[in-house]
Amino acid sequence: MKKSKIFAGILIFIVGMAFTGCGSTSQSSSGSTSGLKAIKDRGYLNVGVKLDVPKFGYKDPKTSKIEGFEIDLSKAVAKKIFGDENKIKFQGVTAKTRGPLLDSGQVDMIAATFTITDQRKKSYNFSDPYFTDHVGLMVKKSSGIKDLKGLNNKKIGVAQSATSKDAIQKEAEKVGSKVSFLEFAGYPDIKSALDSGRVDCFSVDKSILSGYLDDSTVLLKEQFSPQDYGIASKKGNDDLAKTINETISEMKKSGELNKLIDKWGIK
Ligand code: GLU
Repeated sequence: MKKSKIFAGILIFIVGMAFTGCGSTSQSSSGSTSGLKAIKDRGYLNVGVKLDVPKFGYKDPKTSKIEGFEIDLSKAVAKKIFGDENKIKFQGVTAKTRGPLLDSGQVDMIAATFTITDQRKKSYNFSDPYFTDHVGLMVKKSSGIKDLKGLNNKKIGVAQSATSKDAIQKEAEKVGSKVSFLEFAGYPDIKSALDSGRVDCFSVDKSILSGYLDDSTVLLKEQFSPQDYGIASKKGNDDLAKTINETISEMKKSGELNKLIDKWGIK
């Protein structure tokens, strides 16, 4: 009786060790769960993109077509992997959801106006930059606000988990302006809040703001905090990160990247 208990214990221990071993192998640095091999076996690349940033990643409500600079860039990565740019599936992300979607493996990479920061580099692999933008400020023409100084005691609408809030805070301090913030899940919500007067200013990268400019709004001349955009992938998926970087560097060398920037008019 005692012997069989010991035997059962040893068996449980061995089986347990085997399972632990399996687990660590599947998450090895070769990225076998969602690395390049798994992507190839699946037959398509899963990419997180913006759907509400005209010219970068935008879903046209009339045609349901998803298009923009970052869509073309992602297709170039798919072409590098599969020899076919159409072996790709897009998923809409926001500044708040893009990290968690990458963490959970629902997307293989993110090409969504994602600013490379030292903090974010601790959690994700980032490619070399493919575009640089600055943070800008949009106000209503009727507000008469002309600069950051004029935003003293005003409320600024920013996106959750975006770099905007910290960037403005720093810049506002420099000119002695005290500002407060309201945070939103998406950009259409911030524009509505600006229209309805819930906020006095809509702030994010200028490339994103430009897509929301209309007859009643204006971008202030000031711009600050340069933002380098990179394609993010999961840490450990080093073979995918390498492929992404090779694609970008080849596109830089061939002039294809600049052609795309011209095509989308985003200089
Ligand atoms: N590019 C900035 C960031 O990564 C703005 C937010 C956004 O991309 O939506 O935080």
